[in-house]
Amino acid sequence: MNETGIPIPGWAEKVADSLGAGPHVVVSGISVSGNIHAGNLREVLVAEAIAGALRARGEEVRFIFHADTIDPLRKIAPTIPRSYEEYIGHSLSHIPDPEGCHVSYAEHFLVPFEEALREMEMEIEVLRSHELYEGGVYTDVTREALDHTEELRGILQDVTDRQMPEHWSPYLPRASSGKLTGMRVLEHLPEQTSVVFADEDGFEEAADYSKGEGKLGWRVELAARWKALGVTFEPFGKDHTTSGGSTETADRMAREVFDYPVPGRYEYEWIGLKGRGDMSSSRGIVLLPKDLLRIMPPNALRRIILGRDPARRFDLDLGSGFPRFMDEYRAEAGEPFVPFNHLVVVAQTVGGDVDAAAGMLRRGGYVEAAEDGERLARDLAHARTWAEEWAPESMRLGLLDPAESREAAAGLDDEQRAYLREVSERLAPEMDGEAVQDLLYSTAIGRGLKPKRAFAAVYKVLLGKTSGPKAGPFIAGLPDERVRERLSG
Ligand SMILES: [Zn+2]
Repeated sequence: MNETGIPIPGWAEKVADSLGAGPHVVVSGISVSGNIHAGNLREVLVAEAIAGALRARGEEVRFIFHADTIDPLRKIAPTIPRSYEEYIGHSLSHIPDPEGCHVSYAEHFLVPFEEALREMEMEIEVLRSHELYEGGVYTDVTREALDHTEELRGILQDVTDRQMPEHWSPYLPRASSGKLTGMRVLEHLPEQTSVVFADEDGFEEAADYSKGEGKLGWRVELAARWKALGVTFEPFGKDHTTSGGSTETADRMAREVFDYPVPGRYEYEWIGLKGRGDMSSSRGIVLLPKDLLRIMPPNALRRIILGRDPARRFDLDLGSGFPRFMDEYRAEAGEPFVPFNHLVVVAQTVGGDVDAAAGMLRRGGYVEAAEDGERLARDLAHARTWAEEWAPESMRLGLLDPAESREAAAGLDDEQRAYLREVSERLAPEMDGEAVQDLLYSTAIGRGLKPKRAFAAVYKVLLGKTSGPKAGPFIAGLPDERVRERLSG
């Protein structure tokens, strides 16, 4: 645990131990070309865990989220209008928001993610790459890259086993059309920090690379970024670390061209959604961190996304397996015990009424969990959202309103209705779960009614179902008059 209460996992301590003395710069870079989903969050959380482990051993740490806002749009995501094809090759920071709610395409996808990071109280600096280029942070490394164009080209050809075009350049200048791709760099003028290039129509233009009038190509930028920001650690997903991948070129470029030591690394595996496959913006399997923060607190989100070991692939189970995860999380976090399933029943019964929920928890025997009203309100909201959006049908419970209950009672036979009336007369507010369970059972026996049909009648008028949570504790937790009203028909 560090001073902010975020647990430091064992694997993160080991990785941090392998890194030398600080100061450290831990970076995580993500494209903003589409939704930044919960799978992407895994990378940021890996970096956060390492930053936390370094801070815990007393190191000075700068923790950066590098948003690739200046990158060119490459393809149109499924939810983006086809008319956006005209922007292919333009910087994401220079393209209008497809929904019109933010200042750019990049911000439309970045802002919700940034808000989730803030909600998680992450100690992270969010840097936008277009601002870094405009502010001159990349000027020196861009000059260096342009001066070593031939070596960089050689490394790319070597590693990827692909012939680069004759006019290949590490730099992508922005033409007056707004496009970054498809230009031909003709000349580098280092004193003027600019390049002369032929645009897509063959006209000569110039771009000043100290002012953000272009960017380094992605593979070169990765190595250049390490140097420009002084990066000492960066995690990568398996899509980058395969043979011939971007880390292989960046490692060689860092050593051979930029004369910069390759930062520490951790390779994480992807996460999927149970029954749905890997998360991917382009395939439409998208779950946003904000969606997950609606069903669990930040530290539970950290735990579920990282899993026991982020080097292993893992499927999020937000359905029937979720209550058990929440119970384990609560136990480890030392929070007052109340089974998540029970909270779900309470939340569905009382809605957002925290006092009523506290009463139900106390009567159900979860006195401690009822004490902190603020936490209870949060937990109830999470449980209710989970029930509505993720719970299997069998766990979706809601106390019928009196009219629905009367309608349900009409579908029962006379024996069942008489049984419910007798129960309602004998029910007393001071009974605990066990006493109510005994009452339900003994009344059925006394009337010669099969317990199965008796209990089915109870569930029917309370929940509109033929089965449900154990009836005694459930009823004991409900306000007495609500139960009586429904049982007496
Ligand atoms: Zn927007």
